[in-house]
Amino acid sequence: MTDYAQLLKEHELKATFQRTQILEVIEKYGHIAIERIYEEVSKIHASLSLATIYKNIIMMVEKGVLTEVPIIGQKSKYEIAKEEHIHLICTSCSAVMDKVLDKDTSEDTQHVAEVSGFSLEHRQLNLYGLCESCK
Ligand SMILES: [Zn+2]
Ligand SMILES: [Zn+2]
Repeated sequence: MTDYAQLLKEHELKATFQRTQILEVIEKYGHIAIERIYEEVSKIHASLSLATIYKNIIMMVEKGVLTEVPIIGQKSKYEIAKEEHIHLICTSCSAVMDKVLDKDTSEDTQHVAEVSGFSLEHRQLNLYGLCESCK
């Protein structure tokens, strides 16, 4: 299991109980919306408000601990920041799967940016469709 206190410290954030709880829930689910994080965290820590959770998540996104995954037609999900990868998003059950960003795809998107005179900072590739169990 990830050392959340260490992770937070590396990003210049104090390792509060609420933050480590939020991170634990996010890691357990992989990609999860704020309302679901709130449901899970309140099971352990009933006094936490949605506003507090929201504030902490925004802070952790700003500091690079978390990544926001905006999903068309749904609320954003959040994940622990990691290497660039591709998302396969099921439009039926909303499952989000991580797939490795292979060398070819990485170079292709780089190329698209380059020929457009666009300086690429970061990318998030989301592919929408039906997962194996929803097909
Ligand atoms: Zn599905
Ligand atoms: Zn992901």
